[in-house]
Amino acid sequence: MNIPAQQPENNWSARKSAELYGIDEWSSNYFGVSDAGEVTVCVPAANGDACVSLMHIVDGLQQRGLQMPVLLRLENLVDTRISILNDSFSQAMESSGYRGQYRGVFPIKVNQQSHVVAEIARFGERYNHGLEAGSKAELMIALATITNRESLIICNGYKDAEFISLGLQSRKLGFKCFFVLETLSELQSVIERSRALDIEPLIGVRLKLSTKVEGHWSADSGDRSLFGLNTNELVTVIDTLREANLLHCFQLLHFHLGSQIPNIRSIRAGVLEACRYYIELVGEGAPLQYLDLGGGLAIDYDGTCSTNGHSRNYSVQEYCIDVVEAIQESLDKHHIPHPTIVTESGRATVAHTAILLFNILDVTQFEPTTLPDILPHPCHEMIQNLWQSLAEISVNNLQESYNDAIYYRDKIRDLFNSGDINLRHRVLSENIYLAALQKIAALLPEMKRVPAELETLSQLLADIYYGNFSVFQSLPDSWAIGQVFPVMPIHRLTEEPTRQAIIADLTCDCDGKLQKFATPTGESSTLPLHPIKAGEEYYLGVFLVGAYQETLGDLHNLFGDTNVASVRINADASLDFVHELQGDSIADVLSYVEYDPAALYQQFRETAEQAVRDSIISVADRQQMLAAYSEGLRGYTYFEK
Ligand SMILES: *Cc1c(COP(=O)(O)O)cnc(C)c1O
Repeated sequence: MNIPAQQPENNWSARKSAELYGIDEWSSNYFGVSDAGEVTVCVPAANGDACVSLMHIVDGLQQRGLQMPVLLRLENLVDTRISILNDSFSQAMESSGYRGQYRGVFPIKVNQQSHVVAEIARFGERYNHGLEAGSKAELMIALATITNRESLIICNGYKDAEFISLGLQSRKLGFKCFFVLETLSELQSVIERSRALDIEPLIGVRLKLSTKVEGHWSADSGDRSLFGLNTNELVTVIDTLREANLLHCFQLLHFHLGSQIPNIRSIRAGVLEACRYYIELVGEGAPLQYLDLGGGLAIDYDGTCSTNGHSRNYSVQEYCIDVVEAIQESLDKHHIPHPTIVTESGRATVAHTAILLFNILDVTQFEPTTLPDILPHPCHEMIQNLWQSLAEISVNNLQESYNDAIYYRDKIRDLFNSGDINLRHRVLSENIYLAALQKIAALLPEMKRVPAELETLSQLLADIYYGNFSVFQSLPDSWAIGQVFPVMPIHRLTEEPTRQAIIADLTCDCDGKLQKFATPTGESSTLPLHPIKAGEEYYLGVFLVGAYQETLGDLHNLFGDTNVASVRINADASLDFVHELQGDSIADVLSYVEYDPAALYQQFRETAEQAVRDSIISVADRQQMLAAYSEGLRGYTYFEK
């Protein structure tokens, strides 16, 4: 008896793969599937898009000795995203007759890597795109990176006297460096440092709005949010600044409702509420010129274009139009000049720009081996019952058969534990059990209504694909907050993916896996993948990982930073490998947790030397061991081939 394997359809195509993985939904057209069945990355070029296959890039990485896993950065996409944000605001302003400007700032915390920030500053210069700093360290990055004095530097977060002094001094160099007040005590500090240095500050205030947003970051908004000033404190700021003769420095109003805001209506509501404050503050005599909406511009990670937390129900263009119109309508009623609109979009600027690439090392399948035609004699009654129930499975008794299979399996396990059946018979019955589950799963689609218990069957039977990466290091949000990222094979897409799988990482931690996948029809607990072929690598990509993932990553099981490569795609679709960064070596990660790799080597050497003295190993053995140890220290923390 054998369960027929699912036959791959002959008429499978690259297009079908594209639909299956929903790539057109989440890729914003930066990624696609070629006719040859490979994922391509496409960047806008003068004469249409320039497209390159990711497999071609993987070849290039290999030739350069960069092993998997690799974090691949697509430099052009950084530029493209900055252009889209700035151009969309310009167009929205032009079409609605807005009399003001847009000034974007990139929040450094979203991706602090120096090449990323440097590229944003370099390309953003033409748009006066600035940087947002949430700490002293980030302010130092901003001051060293921004070359354009029209670009803003926005300082959020708690600021000590040193932070404030540095920001004030940068004013002398012509930097437009704003302090956004998060607390009243900061105001005292700003006034005091400003007097001491005799430099006038640029001041903004962070509002605590009562508009609440949906999604994971909803706690950033509302009365209990951790940040920003309430109305009482706002009035105190005005009075204090007026008294200190600094009210003219109060030029910016800031709010931040949280990241990844799925619903455009919340964004509009937040803007309208902030405009009310803007109008009142202007009435109070504050010469406001900037309205800073913070971050929140969301990414459609699951491609559903909906208000669920992994998605959003608006495009960048709609965001810009809604924001511009809401501000314009509110302020026009009061004849107040249109402010410069500032946004601190981080996720929307960089999420698309990085892909985690890794290979599959191994697969565990939950498939029965070939069953015998008849049961051996003698055979325990319970095994005969299980055998019988397998034979009788039909569409009409799926739930009952499922219950029986589990009942008999458990009985047989008990019999094994009590010594009443032997190992061979236990193996036989586990295989009959798996065959029963497979048969039930295969018949489920014919059922009108699938019982809840059987819905999880596909997950129970899913293959485990072991990927050469660490969730904790490279996709921390997937573990920490259940973030869904698009995952798919980057080649073999002309073949039908006939397996259903979850993906485990290298950490041997039960949380080290991916088992929530976005599909065009909703979230799924398994991902269709291809059977791996002996002697051939199988590569997967996790997409949209350019925001927040790199610095939140940790050293769980001492898997360190991955190799990183930045590529630039030229208009003729040729490639420049602009940066290569070797990931952490084992010696690197050991030193992060306070080991001294040289001392470890010495200790191991002494152990080996003692073994030579005791005639347990030869000197040649010792040399070989020491060479392996020292090579290991220099090696990559991931699986090397
Ligand atoms: C995190 C943060 C941002 C970035 O938000 P995104 O949703 O990534 O655009 C902007 N401003 C502030 C104050 C933040 O804390």
